[in-house]
Amino acid sequence: MNQKGLLIIVSGPSGAGKGTLCKSLLKRDSSLIVSVSATTRLPRDGEVDGVSYHFYEKEDFLNRIEANGFLEYAKVYDNYYGTPKDFVIDHISRGENVLLEIDIQGAIQVKQKYPEGVFVFVLPPSMKTLRDRIVGRGSETPESLEKRMSCAMNEIESIRHYDYFVVNDQVEWATDQLQAILLAEKCRVRSD
Ligand code: 5GP
Repeated sequence: MNQKGLLIIVSGPSGAGKGTLCKSLLKRDSSLIVSVSATTRLPRDGEVDGVSYHFYEKEDFLNRIEANGFLEYAKVYDNYYGTPKDFVIDHISRGENVLLEIDIQGAIQVKQKYPEGVFVFVLPPSMKTLRDRIVGRGSETPESLEKRMSCAMNEIESIRHYDYFVVNDQVEWATDQLQAILLAEKCRVRSD
């Protein structure tokens, strides 16, 4: 039987509510280890370095790519984002379950390198809700909002690469579904 932990990848278009859903899951299951991503974007109000993200200068980030320091990385809306590799590998090898909340380009890279991961696609209930959520954050210009919306339309097609989907209409119900997926995966018979 496999003693390794699960790698759970929660992904989907920006504004689908991945972050809220992951926070809600973590409240219920504190045994999950969260991978803190690295990014070159500036911190938003209230974000803490090393907790929300590791905030790196672009040059530092590019050096880490060269040094093969990321499990995956992607340029999302003009900034780089990446998952520090050693952290994830260390925890999984200790039998701990690791949660990644990343964009779709990143998830597809993880799927190529680590197909045994559990890939969950978070869908917004509608495109209108998606737009309202992005507007509600207050961090977008009209141009960047339109960019995010048109990307989201294309990204939804990528759902075919995933194992599961969750429609994030009501967070508590969506969290129930995510927990059920985890429970099923913990009970899965694995041949490796
Ligand atoms: P935000 O700037 O709003 O925090 O995140 C923008 C997008 O980047 C979101 O879709 C988020 O899921 C994604 N993201 C955050 N961390 C990572 C990461 O480590 N890798 C990738 N590929 N995407 C990430």
